[in-house]
Amino acid sequence: MQTVDFTALDRAGLNLHAVFDIAALPADVRSALAEHVGPNGPCRQLILLGHGGTTLWAALKASGIVSANPIDDFSRATVDQWFAANFPDNVCRILYPGGNPPSLQRLGQLAGWHHPSPFMVGINAYWGSWFAYRVVLLADTELAPTPALAGQSPCVSCSSQPCRPACPAGALPESGFVLQACLSYRRQPDSACRSACLARLACPVGAEHRYCAEQIRHSYSISLRDIERYC
Ligand code: SF4
Ligand code: SF4
Repeated sequence: MQTVDFTALDRAGLNLHAVFDIAALPADVRSALAEHVGPNGPCRQLILLGHGGTTLWAALKASGIVSANPIDDFSRATVDQWFAANFPDNVCRILYPGGNPPSLQRLGQLAGWHHPSPFMVGINAYWGSWFAYRVVLLADTELAPTPALAGQSPCVSCSSQPCRPACPAGALPESGFVLQACLSYRRQPDSACRSACLARLACPVGAEHRYCAEQIRHSYSISLRDIERYC
């Protein structure tokens, strides 16, 4: 069994790590990976890396990176360097960013990071909704698989659910998320959700890990651009 040192990733804010043996993944995930792994491919493991909280954005800004996709490019470069330094005799293949990875939320669920929230962003009791998937790689490593993060969704014990009335579009009724209401509202020129999700901001869980205003603006501006491009 190989040992692994995640310190360099932690320093860059890539502080969520999960190692899976591909053979032990559920059938739906193995099926989604089949085209990448192949019947006799060298890669036996999938490594899921994410960021929680504010460190990634601070590290990215300190790096001085200039890019149209700074988070993706910074994450990929950091992981490339980390893998080469720690596993000089192994090979890896990055499936995300880019590529065609299995559902990130499905992987997050298997890692114990993701529980559904009313506003359709994953949530857990430690980070709240202030985490995200950054890199998925396949590797021929022999690392100890990571136990899933324990704990249930904080929404289960949230009796007041302040996220629901905070949504100005009324997109979060008890009956479930109304995607069209959210998309239509976000596209309005004077929408309060062009560069943020007010429901997400209203959730008290993990509030100490909330991204800075600049990162929130960055992330939601990208999602709005995609909405305006494809809707
Ligand atoms: S406010 Fe409550 S119900 Fe809404 S996302 Fe947060 S924990 Fe879940
Ligand atoms: S982005 Fe705005 S409209 Fe959409 S769910 Fe969040 S608060 Fe509601």
